[in-house]
Amino acid sequence: MAEVTVAPKLPAMHVLVLGAGVVGVTTAFVLAESGACVTVIDRRPGPGLETSFANGGHLSASEVRSWASPMVPGYLAKWIGRADAPFRMPLLRWDPMLWRWGLRYLANCTPARYRANNEALLRLAHYSRAAMQEIVAASGVAFDHRPAGLLAVCRTAESLRQAVDESDSLARADLVHDQVVSAAECVRIEPALADSRGRGQIAGGLFSRDGGTGNAAAFTTGLAAACVAGGVTFRYDTTIQAIEHSDGRVTGVQTSVGRIAGDAIVLALANESRAIAAPLGLALPLYPVKGYSITVPMSESESRLPHIGILDEDRKIVLARFGSAVRVAGTAEFAGFDQRLDLRRVRPILDAARDLFPGPLDGIRPEHANPWTGLRPMTPDGPPIVGPDPRAPKGLFFNTGHGSLGWTLAAATARMTADYIGGRAPAVDSTPYSLARFRAQ
Ligand SMILES: Cc1cc2nc3c(=O)[nH]c(=O)nc-3n(C[C@H](O)[C@H](O)[C@H](O)COP(=O)(O)OP(=O)(O)OC[C@H]3O[C@@H](n4cnc5c(N)ncnc54)[C@H](O)[C@@H]3O)c2cc1C
Repeated sequence: MAEVTVAPKLPAMHVLVLGAGVVGVTTAFVLAESGACVTVIDRRPGPGLETSFANGGHLSASEVRSWASPMVPGYLAKWIGRADAPFRMPLLRWDPMLWRWGLRYLANCTPARYRANNEALLRLAHYSRAAMQEIVAASGVAFDHRPAGLLAVCRTAESLRQAVDESDSLARADLVHDQVVSAAECVRIEPALADSRGRGQIAGGLFSRDGGTGNAAAFTTGLAAACVAGGVTFRYDTTIQAIEHSDGRVTGVQTSVGRIAGDAIVLALANESRAIAAPLGLALPLYPVKGYSITVPMSESESRLPHIGILDEDRKIVLARFGSAVRVAGTAEFAGFDQRLDLRRVRPILDAARDLFPGPLDGIRPEHANPWTGLRPMTPDGPPIVGPDPRAPKGLFFNTGHGSLGWTLAAATARMTADYIGGRAPAVDSTPYSLARFRAQ
């Protein structure tokens, strides 16, 4: 596992971080710690108001997986056309971007590619856990952190067998450290599962002590405040229109409020990174995969809802508890940049959560559960895009495409970005995260 080292001191330079989501803000914090002069630019009036706002809250460890898996054809056959499906793919929609992305995605669904992509993600997640601890210690940020582990619950013997087989092969490479647990042990770890077990809903699970949960929006807001205290400038309500460059080097950005000069630029605009990189001749294979979450207020003493992070392997939802609320997230909808909230898509998430944790969620209607949608910036293979590119102007660094794992991976990719800008080799082998990898796929 890669060790986290003290942040290198950067030469005096002005770095523009484009995007104030969890990825951009974490990068700004690490850069400022390294001595850079940092300006963060975002179109919104504050930090963390887009995809980082109400995500599932899981800081995953052993559960990290690419969505491009050999199981995809089976999922498609089982779920396509069903109203309660964990994904929705409008096949008749004219969406060349989806088709191009989809072909690359399917090419990554072979056993060999799945394994390689999982290894790349797991290495980054391990590194991120250590980097996150340092960032939390240095900033003192509070975010309802519960580092008590994550439990992946399997509802059927078949899904348990699949999960265990996969985990065993990754454990042999020392990449996952989870524990196979029986249905009874699931209840010992999370007593709120007792009712479900009694109804025969649980076949067993995988417990990872290294995982945890936390509120990504609270983290992003708190870390942005720590950034300001550390001298970082935030320019909100400012839309980035283009990256400027001259003689092969970046010089700044054009924005809705004029030009902002900089010596280095970090592109952390999630899905919008694609449009901003395109005029530079750089094709970022990102697709916005819509997800939903609900956040249900509850009493802090409510014992029928989980205390640790739960992943439902069969219904593809995650649950996390933040103080006096429970968050449930899931669904993958391939609808381009359409961020409309369809309450019919919220119901399967609520139903799946009720099924595991009956009682407190009964009678709650989707519209009263603080429904939210966000667009995951997904690469077709899974790992994000981090670092410079030989075809990009010098001084441009990508930190984007974190898909369903941006909260988990933000600390790692922030460190890698600071290493690149400081001219140091990142602590993890950077090849699987380069933009160039897509030229070979
Ligand atoms: C339903 C759901 C559940 C999820 N659950 C988890 C989870 O449990 N664990 C996990 O690790 N991850 C999870 N994720 C993924 C995670 O939320 C994302 O990967 C992460 O938030 C991406 O962060 P970001 O900073 O790249 O993007 P964002 O938070 O979207 O930030 C990008 C920023 O760029 C700004 N921007 C964009 N274009 C422009 C422009 N032209 N000019 C100026 N500003 C611009 C936006 O305003 C925004 O603030 C989930 C995602 C969803 C949707």
